[in-house]
Amino acid sequence: MQDSYLFATIAQKVSAYSAAHPDKEIIKMGIGDVTIPLCKAVVEAGVKAVKEMGEKETFRGYGPYEGYDFLTGAIRNYYKKNGVELDISEIFVSDGAKSDVANILDIFGQDNVVLVPDPVYPVYLDTNVMLGREVKFIDSNKSNGFLPLPDGKVKADIIYLCSPNNPTGAVYNKEQLKCWVDYALKNDAVILFDAAYEFYVTDKTLPRSIFEIEGAKKCAIEFCSLSKTAGFTGTRCGYTVIPKALKNLNAMWLRRQSTKFNGVSYVVQRMAEAVFSEKGQEQIKTNVDVYMKNAKHISGVLNSLGIWHTGGVNSPYIWLSCGEMKSWDFFDKLLEQANVVGTPGAGFGKNGEGFFRLTAFNNYENTCKAMQRIEKLFK
Ligand code: PLP
Repeated sequence: MQDSYLFATIAQKVSAYSAAHPDKEIIKMGIGDVTIPLCKAVVEAGVKAVKEMGEKETFRGYGPYEGYDFLTGAIRNYYKKNGVELDISEIFVSDGAKSDVANILDIFGQDNVVLVPDPVYPVYLDTNVMLGREVKFIDSNKSNGFLPLPDGKVKADIIYLCSPNNPTGAVYNKEQLKCWVDYALKNDAVILFDAAYEFYVTDKTLPRSIFEIEGAKKCAIEFCSLSKTAGFTGTRCGYTVIPKALKNLNAMWLRRQSTKFNGVSYVVQRMAEAVFSEKGQEQIKTNVDVYMKNAKHISGVLNSLGIWHTGGVNSPYIWLSCGEMKSWDFFDKLLEQANVVGTPGAGFGKNGEGFFRLTAFNNYENTCKAMQRIEKLFK
């Protein structure tokens, strides 16, 4: 198990620089956390639910392991609007995508071979290393646009895919996802599809759910999160979809959850329900539009500088080439000469070397200021 030094090292370098240069204003474009508060519809639902919990008539104790019907029903309707039919028993409410992405391994045999793209959201790799599983990597790089496709010669049982991707911001189209679904069906494999950023997909031709692809219900599990879509990073709620057509994994997950999990709090589930209301959807869209305006600006400046990158459209992440430089040298240059902080791609895997991640989660003013500094540095 490798030490998880990426964000700790960044924090150390930034605080050392700040201590030596207290007059410099540093702009953070490395964080993967949201900055806009919860929307009004969500807060109102939360206040109402807290009051209910304080009254004898409306108090609730333990809820269903898989989530209350009012929320799984709202999620089912959300999928339906995007053309995907689900049964509410296929939806499991969670305290976020990270825990479910990790815990899902409980229902897979120890001898399953795991396929993980490189670079990658580190949780996929680390959770499997912790369990001592065999992990194979698939190269995600500039030549495949950071959207690797299956290699028929490589045999795997569990495949991790993330689209829109963290860290690369790249998004699979339907034809590309179909290649993965076909591979999984042929190899009797299961795709663990992380759709934590699905709400950022505005291009109607691109899939927001793997279940938009024919055959996916027989080979895929989908993980979703309200963290980046509705500002729930600190509130904690997500959901996982396990189709009934997928072996016996739906029943096994319910068995696992009823053994190790006692559900998400009633108050948070009411807040999550509000995300899917008409008002909630409008309000979270307004917030996501702010991030996407930032992303578009970052991408536009990089284009004007001729810097190769992925993301910035349909994703809050921008993954850029450091040219001849190594990721950490690029980090130091940006910190010292532009006072801008990003994330070195090398921290996400060997193919991340020579690349750098910027996020759109700051405010527009700071994003513009940071990009002005970067422009001055590279013009
Ligand atoms: N999946 C991906 C790809 C992420 O980038 C993140 C958070 O950064 C998560 C899952 C975790 O989401 P949650 O906050 O719902 O646990």
